[in-house]
Order: sequence, then C-alpha cells, then structure tokens
Amino acid sequence: MHHQKLILFDFDGVIVNGIEEYWFSSKFACEKYLLNNSKNLNIDKYIEVPKIFVEIRPWVKYGWEMVLITHEILKTYKPLNNLTKNSFLENYEENCSKLLLEYSWNSSELQKCLDDARVFQIRNDLKKWISLHRPFNEVVSFIKSVKEKGYKVGIISTKGKTFTSKILSNLDIFPELIFGYESGSKIDIISNLAQNYVITGFVEDRRKTLSNVLENNQTKFINCYLAEWGYLKSKDKIDLPQGIKLLKIKNLEDIVAN
Ligand SMILES: [Mg+2]
Repeated sequence: MHHQKLILFDFDGVIVNGIEEYWFSSKFACEKYLLNNSKNLNIDKYIEVPKIFVEIRPWVKYGWEMVLITHEILKTYKPLNNLTKNSFLENYEENCSKLLLEYSWNSSELQKCLDDARVFQIRNDLKKWISLHRPFNEVVSFIKSVKEKGYKVGIISTKGKTFTSKILSNLDIFPELIFGYESGSKIDIISNLAQNYVITGFVEDRRKTLSNVLENNQTKFINCYLAEWGYLKSKDKIDLPQGIKLLKIKNLEDIVAN
C-alpha cells in the first residue's frame, strides 16, 4: 500500500472537449477505412460538427460508437436525423448492436478504423490534430496545482493510451498514471488502484460509470464527482444518489477541501 493520495479524472468531457476531433476522425474513418460500406455516404454534407452528433454524445461510451453514429448520420439512405434520433436513443445500446449485426461489423474493427484515422492525422499534421481538442483550462490548472500539493494524478480514458498521452503532454500535464481502453474497464482499473492508493476523488461525466463505482464493494468509498461541464444528459443531474456530487468547474477545489 502506497498510502499516497490519488485523484482520478476521466479524459474526454472532463479535461478536454474532444467533440470536434471525434467528429472529424470518425468521418475520416468512415471515408478511408470503412471499406465496402462507405460507398453510400454523403461525406461532405457537414462542414462543421452537426448538432445531432453533439446531442448524441452523452450516450456514447466507447470510441467505436462514434464511428457507427457518424456513419448513420452521413448515410444517404435513411440517415439518423432529428426525426429518428429519439427512438434511436431510447434503446441506444441495442440499436448500436443491431447496426453492427446488420453491417457485419464488430466493435474492435470500428475502433481500429478510428485509431488508424488518428494515426494518419498525427503523422500528417500533429498540431492540427491536437488543435481539435479544446482543453477545459480550469481543470488543466487544477491538475497542475494538486500535483504541486503532493497528490498523484491518474487519468482514465476510453481513447487509446498513446493518443491520450499526446494530448496531455501538449497541455503540459504529466500524470503518474494514464489508462486507455487497452487497460480494461474503468471499474476494474479503479478497483485495482483502490488497493494501493487512497483515492481522494474521481471526476467523470458519465453518470453510469460513477454509479458502477458506488455499487462496487472495493470502490464504494470513493468520492465521486459528476462533471457538470461535460457531456451530460439533461436528467443526469437530477436525483443523484448520495456519494455522487454534481461538481461545477468553479468548485474543483472542493475535491481537496477535506
Ligand atoms: Mg467523459
């Protein structure tokens, strides 16, 4: 046991707003890497990130879902649009699984397409790719300040670890621990960490992930913070269980207050 204090942060929606990067990388993945099924796409339909993509973001858990959703928004026949959005979201996970079956895709294939799209952009123009991520400056400063106070910092992302590390070092943040999707589920990562560190808090913008932390015997003592500035569904803020606090960006210091 290190008995060292550790603060954990989710990445996208907590440290950076990566919506633009997700859209352009997913679109690129559809165009260049999704062979056979990308013929009927209206790739140039949107110059900017479409509103529907932003609206669906709070339901998304993994990067590969972004590629699937982008494909659905861009397809020429029966695209995902304002008329079909609500019914799609009502059974979000089932609908994603159905689409995978329909196209004979699997999630790791789609994730690979997204990762390849990122590798291509990083090789081609790293600065431009980095610029598609908008940092939440208050969070960046907070992470630097807690490190100075002697806290260890861990970042748990559902992006690949190398991509996360590149963006973090560009923000001048060097956490002791970085986990990407390769490291397994967030709950498993946190359970393992809880055996070796005193976890002071976990900041995340996905309510379900925080609920999982509270329901797990090894992690239920961790102070969970729902990042109000992240990608939240409107009902996420309502009736939060004891143990999950809604955190405003101006109140980040609350995490280290006691
Ligand atoms: Mg997030």
